Amino acid sequence: MTIRTRFAPSPTGYLHLGGLRTALYTYLFAKKNGGKFILRIEDTDQEREVEGAVELIYKSLRQAGLIYDEGPDVGGDFGPYIQTERKDSYLPFAMELVKSGAAYPCFCTKEELQERRDAATAKGEQWKYDKHCLHMTREEALSRMESGEPCVIRQNIPTTGFASFEDALYGHVEAPCDTLDDNVLIKADGLPTYNFANVIDDHLMGITHVMRGTEYLSSTPKYNLLYTAFGWDAPIYIHLSPVMKDASRKLSKRYGDPSFEDLLSQGYVKDAIINFIALLGWSPGDEREFFTMDELVEAFDVKGLSKAPAIFNTEKLVWFNHEYISRMPFDSYLEMVTPWFDRVLASKNMDYRRLAELMHTRTEVFDRVPDMVSFLAELPEYDIAIYTHKKMKTDAEISLKVLELSLEALTNQDDFSEEALKETLMGLAAANEMKTGQIMWPVRIAISGQQSTPGGTTEIAYLLGKDESLRRMKIGIEKLKANTK
Ligand code: GLU
Repeated sequence: MTIRTRFAPSPTGYLHLGGLRTALYTYLFAKKNGGKFILRIEDTDQEREVEGAVELIYKSLRQAGLIYDEGPDVGGDFGPYIQTERKDSYLPFAMELVKSGAAYPCFCTKEELQERRDAATAKGEQWKYDKHCLHMTREEALSRMESGEPCVIRQNIPTTGFASFEDALYGHVEAPCDTLDDNVLIKADGLPTYNFANVIDDHLMGITHVMRGTEYLSSTPKYNLLYTAFGWDAPIYIHLSPVMKDASRKLSKRYGDPSFEDLLSQGYVKDAIINFIALLGWSPGDEREFFTMDELVEAFDVKGLSKAPAIFNTEKLVWFNHEYISRMPFDSYLEMVTPWFDRVLASKNMDYRRLAELMHTRTEVFDRVPDMVSFLAELPEYDIAIYTHKKMKTDAEISLKVLELSLEALTNQDDFSEEALKETLMGLAAANEMKTGQIMWPVRIAISGQQSTPGGTTEIAYLLGKDESLRRMKIGIEKLKANTK
């Protein structure tokens, strides 16, 4: 038997990270078992559909490296892969259930339903559909349907006994039938609800394993009743624990939690995101933390899935991202960091290659880069207190002297290579019986305006070039003089 799994998103917006994780596990499970990974678009709730969301799903899955074997834009033998394009295939199945008594048409209007719901609520009862239309003869029901009277088709849930299924992770899951509602299978507009479409399509598409969020755990017994009514084998279900922002709430775009696309545009590296997401609720059973996609395929096992909710720990994601960036080949880093340098340095004629060398292992997330290098574009405002540094044995007075000496020495120097700068500044230290730090610290503060910089004094002076370095040193001198007056 060929394993066939599917990712079945509804096109309601961005690919959120819980969705990405479901897609990833579904993909890994298929590939691990030499099976097929299928994309199906569940768009029967047209009111919730967001324009452009379908294309975004295709794009995001490709960006994530989750290449589907069958899907709307790649085809396959079980298409169409968009539910609204299959819309005519659902009603005949629903009618089959109507004939066997496992479903029935319901002609209750919205107003009638509301009235009864209100009455139940007023009595403090939990409302579920009262099977009002079930008491009609089948002939009457069918003839009213044929005459075009608006109706929905409902699942006829038994009033006694239990509905159940076996989940590969959660084990036996059951629900007393008398607690289950006679859900709508086909809506008045002729489109199926999710409740029906997922069953029909999983069956018709030969899906062998379904992975999806635990929010479906409680309705799956009901879906199983449909499989039984049709006499079909149900797929194996593996429900996945939710991805949480913290102990009390699920990760959600609604609360501003990032989507996959957001993370990419913030400058997280795709492979780092995938690696991090893979470990949100799954463990390889050993201490390994770094995985390529191929290694994930190799290592993935349902046994490693956790039932406990996974907490999305941004610090851990940042840590992974930093590791991935530090390990990437320098030229890839340079290519990726260039647009981030451009945000603040585009108009400067700066040696990006040298700057990238200084930034490579210091970059945690690319969107932090502009702030880290903006001092090169413009000297920040700074307090002269930062000239004072105990370990470097500097204070405002020493700094003023050092800046004046350095300014003089560097004014007469055209070679602003790092080696030449180093030689000059070290020479100054020796000639004035000062420690290297006593020279380097004040100059670095003057040219950068901050205590911590990527790269040291000579690297920054080289990057800024002679004119700008000298200009900044003069500003430093002015500031220090103003203070000692
Ligand atoms: N369309 C459903 C969703 O987006 C899919 C659930 C399932 O995989 O069956 O949540």
